[in-house]
Amino acid sequence: MQLTYKYRLKPTKAQLGTIVAHLELCRRQYNYRLSERFRWWESTRTPVNACPLTASIVSVEEIYQNIPLTRVQTRDGRKKDESGNPLTRKGDVFSNVEGGYVQWQAIQLADLKNTKKLFPDYKALNSQVLQDVVNRVETSFSNFTTPDKNGNRRGKPKFKGFDYYKSFTYPQLDNLDIIKDEQNIICVNLAKIGQVPMVFHRPIPTGFTVKTGTVIREADRWYIALTLEDKAVPVTVAEIQPTDENTLGIDLGITNYVYLSNGERVENPRFLRRYAEKLARLQAKLASRVKGSKPWQVIKSKISRLHQFVARARLDFQFKTAHELFRKCDVLVVEDLSVKNLTRRAKAKTDIDNNGNLVYLPNGQSAKSGLNKSMLDAAHGQFASVLKYVAWKLGKNVLLVNPKGTSQYCWNCLNKVSKELSERCHSCQCGESLERDENSAKLIKKIGLIHQSGGGASSLKKALAQREIEACGLTVLR
Ligand SMILES: [Zn+2]
Repeated sequence: MQLTYKYRLKPTKAQLGTIVAHLELCRRQYNYRLSERFRWWESTRTPVNACPLTASIVSVEEIYQNIPLTRVQTRDGRKKDESGNPLTRKGDVFSNVEGGYVQWQAIQLADLKNTKKLFPDYKALNSQVLQDVVNRVETSFSNFTTPDKNGNRRGKPKFKGFDYYKSFTYPQLDNLDIIKDEQNIICVNLAKIGQVPMVFHRPIPTGFTVKTGTVIREADRWYIALTLEDKAVPVTVAEIQPTDENTLGIDLGITNYVYLSNGERVENPRFLRRYAEKLARLQAKLASRVKGSKPWQVIKSKISRLHQFVARARLDFQFKTAHELFRKCDVLVVEDLSVKNLTRRAKAKTDIDNNGNLVYLPNGQSAKSGLNKSMLDAAHGQFASVLKYVAWKLGKNVLLVNPKGTSQYCWNCLNKVSKELSERCHSCQCGESLERDENSAKLIKKIGLIHQSGGGASSLKKALAQREIEACGLTVLR
């Protein structure tokens, strides 16, 4: 089981100066390493329709003179074989190009020693922190170039301005790095920065070890996020078989944040909407100030603190709601929403006019934009992870079901009752007449109840198939 605990840091003035300087060095390094990757990518890629090669078609020397063809290992590797000998040794020579692909991460990691030679400032930085910067570049770049298992790629990585690079990571901390200083204040020991006092508002759970620490700049304060791990604690809770009594289905929405299958509801607090006016006023003020001036900075900080406040209020609300829901049931059935899919742009509607020109017709994008904003404000994706965490903590269970069709079918007879988004009522031939969201919640519960352990996510399709079988008079094996 892995957890992340966040603690407030209270660095001294001198430490604060060091932390700020380190963050800036990391930011520059990130941008530089990213530019290296981009230069390579721009000069070797070919249009997909012309030549579907992802490997270089021109020899390495021709395009990029600075890439060494091989690299030499500087010390014995940490990984060892059965007899205790290191798998790789000092002096081993590796090729920087394998199967036509340039091993960028390895090249850039090996190149860090040149960075330290050229820019001695980097000597003040912990080398693992610097290595982590290269690993970050690798992650964002491979997310961009290599599709995941669903065939989706992430967006093009961006160069980071001062406001957009907010953290650096120590990839190897342990429990001994949390110590008390002479004044009995609990500190975290960060290499090259020193013992930084922290607000140790909650202890590290017994059995858990500190793995990594990420120093984060937020609106005006500094935090450290520690990842904790205990391999003995199972990630999944003991499975509870959902029954009609111990299970609740919930429908997540905009008007009602949560609609329960027993008819109860929790209203959406709409945090961002509530502060939208204040935010707009501040943003107008910001625009009228000279960029970078003192008054500009004051307003800028007010804006980011407002955003921080809204985000915290939202998270707090989600935790309280989650605990309240689990007081009522042991198993909670939720739609497996991927907010990203829901907030895509509306599809363009086109037509050919009398002169043969392509024209764009209204496609409802402005209404969709408003809905998107509300959806992002509701942060249902974040709520789903809060539910999973609280369930793990309380020893309860969350079941995710496929959301497809849950608003279009009747929960009682499973017949299709099509409705537009604006129709808020559900009335079916079978006599069921209730609110749209309540119908969804009841249907989600029903789908959850057919869940079988190890059978994957339940869906409406499975429920419909089961109804077919029951209609034929066959018994269903549970
Ligand atoms: Zn019905």
